[in-house]
Amino acid sequence: MKTSAIIFLFIFLCSFQVNAQTKENSIEENENYMKMAIELAKTAVNEGNYPFGAVVVKNGVVVGKGYNCSHSTNDATAHGEIMAIRDACKNLGTNWLEGCELYTNGEPCPMCFAACFFANIKHIYFGATKEDMTEWGIVDMRPYDLVCQPLEKREIKSEVILREESGKLFEEWGKTNKKK
Ligand SMILES: [Zn+2]
Repeated sequence: MKTSAIIFLFIFLCSFQVNAQTKENSIEENENYMKMAIELAKTAVNEGNYPFGAVVVKNGVVVGKGYNCSHSTNDATAHGEIMAIRDACKNLGTNWLEGCELYTNGEPCPMCFAACFFANIKHIYFGATKEDMTEWGIVDMRPYDLVCQPLEKREIKSEVILREESGKLFEEWGKTNKKK
């Protein structure tokens, strides 16, 4: 049986008990998950990538792991958190990671924070803060500010075209689909 199938089966079998009592992880458990993220970050470095790793945990079980592989896979979006979320979604067979926590050795960038939001992860643990990492020359803080800027002030030129035509699909979709 594949590892992912075993993980899924385990989660399924535990789900009744888990729904009844979602337990808080102990400090030791949290630190162990963070140590896993750090080890994954070391793997990222060994493969020539940025030093970030992440794990997704549900009810005391690691359901997703990932590390930065932007360089090795030529994928600008392959941050550790994104890779861990993709792995968890695949293993659990859902894009809705309700009840999951994410552990990452560095504070998530806006892209990864948004990915956590859209995956419905409610709790993020991170090691180094963005200020720590900036001091070491690892993180560029600009994206944190840019996402909050009005269109005309964004560093990446952003403009609206075909608004009405683009809006039709959203409007139609919105009429027949309820927001989760
Ligand atoms: Zn990121």
